[in-house]
Amino acid sequence: MTDLPTSRRKPKAPVLTIGGRPIKPATLMMGHGYDPQLSEGALKPPIFLTSTFAFESAAAGKRHFEGITGKRPGGAEGLVYSRFNGPNQEILEDRLSVWDQAEDSLVFSSGMSAIATLLLAYCSQGDVIVHSGPLYAATETYIARALSRFGIGYVDFPAGATLAELEAALARAHDLAKQQGGKVAMIYLESPANPTNALVDIEAVAQARLNVLGSAEVAPIAIDNTFLGPLWQQPLLHGADIVVYSLTKYAGGHSDLVAGGLSGSNLWMAPIRALRNTMGTILDPYTSWMLLRSLETVELRMTRAGENAAKVCAFLAQHPKVDGLGYLGAIADPRQQDIFNRHCTGAGSTFSLFIKGGEAESFRFLDSLSIAKLAVSLGGTETLASHPAAMTHLSVPDARKAMLGITDNLVRVSIGIEDADDLIADFDQALALV
Ligand SMILES: *Cc1c(COP(=O)(O)O)cnc(C)c1O
Repeated sequence: MTDLPTSRRKPKAPVLTIGGRPIKPATLMMGHGYDPQLSEGALKPPIFLTSTFAFESAAAGKRHFEGITGKRPGGAEGLVYSRFNGPNQEILEDRLSVWDQAEDSLVFSSGMSAIATLLLAYCSQGDVIVHSGPLYAATETYIARALSRFGIGYVDFPAGATLAELEAALARAHDLAKQQGGKVAMIYLESPANPTNALVDIEAVAQARLNVLGSAEVAPIAIDNTFLGPLWQQPLLHGADIVVYSLTKYAGGHSDLVAGGLSGSNLWMAPIRALRNTMGTILDPYTSWMLLRSLETVELRMTRAGENAAKVCAFLAQHPKVDGLGYLGAIADPRQQDIFNRHCTGAGSTFSLFIKGGEAESFRFLDSLSIAKLAVSLGGTETLASHPAAMTHLSVPDARKAMLGITDNLVRVSIGIEDADDLIADFDQALALV
């Protein structure tokens, strides 16, 4: 009875090395976590549209529930019910964890449901979240307007903060938590930040946590890696504990799905998995299957998009109607460049473009684009452009917008995988009409 075949479509002994060295993530995306022989030989995983799973025996059902409820460590050995997990989700989770060299990953119905479940799993009444700023607008809203209703406080610091500034923010958070009868429960980062591309020094954050909170406090460092991940930044290697993704962006990559993911050690993932089981924020089987297809080409797509962005930015940087770029391939600030050199392996394909003028000139530019589409979101195969001050960050108070550098002449661009010369020609003709 101990050697029950699980219904997880998982090979018992996954092949992770070839010729004595680890197989690269790009290769593992084609088959890792799936055994065709467990699915009638189907080369690709079928989509498992079922709400519940039949147990081999009553004893097996009991054992699976012991795993689900945490009565027995190590998680469920078999599948139980589709609010907890399913084969498509598990294969996707196995492949997602490859990129960050994480023990475990969890997938969610959206980036925001991943973030919401993460913060609820770790924060209780009286606790304080320390976070970098700016954050994705919905994340800021969730912390400042939703979690605050349950007595959870927050302290924020600017993305580029130095070790001393990080220590000061953590000390303030520690004091606030004491006043409120709670603890510093979470250090939440977003790097690069949206839409400014400001980088957070993850190593300095980990050092500041050690210096201020010591080892007695266990506030995990979580980081939203949506802009550079999974290809160009691996935060777990620099001191982060949990990596957060909107899989809607580069991982999904075709602007045709919404999903989220979290990766980290089993220890950090366990309470989040338990809460996801309770709340039902898991991703559905069909979208999981679409993401499996997307991950097969993620390296190809991101590489091409990154190369395109470098060419487009080289053109834009010297254009007389351009007032500057917020592009990680051309950083002006030495401290930001130092963080980039330590943490990032590529400059990405999402950047800020400052048009000479204000909202009128920026709108004129956006309305004149022909190949690039006027839409929010990023990381798709197609090039998108938007105006954060008037769109994604419209609800941010003017003073905070000014502090974060979200100006009226800022256009955010996400470069896709089209032909680079066509994109340059499009930007050229649109700028001519400004
Ligand atoms: C889009 C995005 C999110 C939210 O993800 P959804 O999938 O839209 O819920 C969170 N963080 C960042 C940086 C994003 O770009």
